[in-house]
Amino acid sequence: MTTANPASVPETRAATPGAKVIEFVRVSKTYAGQVTAVSEVDLAIGYGELVAVVGHSGSGKSTMLHLMGTLDRPSSGQVTVDGHRIDRLTDREVSALRAQRIGFVFQQFHLAVGVPVLDTVADGLLYAGVPLRERRRRAAKALARVGLSHRIDHLPHQLSGGERQRAAVARAVIGEPAVLLADEPTGNLDSASGAAVLVLLRELHTAGTTVVVITHDREMAAQLDRRVEMRDGRIVADSGPVAVHPEALR
Ligand code: ADP
Ligand code: MG
Repeated sequence: MTTANPASVPETRAATPGAKVIEFVRVSKTYAGQVTAVSEVDLAIGYGELVAVVGHSGSGKSTMLHLMGTLDRPSSGQVTVDGHRIDRLTDREVSALRAQRIGFVFQQFHLAVGVPVLDTVADGLLYAGVPLRERRRRAAKALARVGLSHRIDHLPHQLSGGERQRAAVARAVIGEPAVLLADEPTGNLDSASGAAVLVLLRELHTAGTTVVVITHDREMAAQLDRRVEMRDGRIVADSGPVAVHPEALR
């Protein structure tokens, strides 16, 4: 990663009902020319949706998240994120798009060791060119939003798993991404902390954030608005979009 000025990505977020934040057209991903993890997937996710991608281990869910999050390019097919065809962007432009428009939450939290929570969350704005003072101010706000105002000076190891994941969520949304992608966000948590993280994701969704949660947990998926079910790299069921919260279309 570099802290140099990122290439600029033009703002193309379409504030119209039905606009898509993620669009896959016949997308496939084959690893090392062998395993086809995702096979000819068509999928469109609109701004403001709350979606679960659900399936057994090995069904291709994480590969889907990597493709949606531009962490990986498809072997074939087209991926469009926030209005940008990924195959038409340079690596530098893709990095900028990712840094500015996509938030990630992973199962293992990924909080820097020895860095106070406030600064970890503030780092979510590093690529937005926001001065440090303002980053910290907004980080404190984001931490209040996830219920961690009393923990801003703590180090990650001083937090519970549930608190760490809430801090990771704060870092992921501080830059107001077009989409928040969460891969098994409750996978390392006890059920009470997991439920709290799910409530938090729903609150963010209600406030207008587009959220895609990857999970093998059907019970969890059942609590989200739309369920896309994967098996052997293909979508085998999709409950379809529900009415989008108007906040998301401002
Ligand atoms: P899930 O998240 O649903 O468990 P993954 O997307 O991680 O599924 O994996 C789908 C398939 O692709 C699996 O067979 C897995 O072993 C394979 N796979 C995933 N990542 C890689 C990789 N980097 N190299 C080779 N094979 C991979
Ligand atoms: Mg996975």
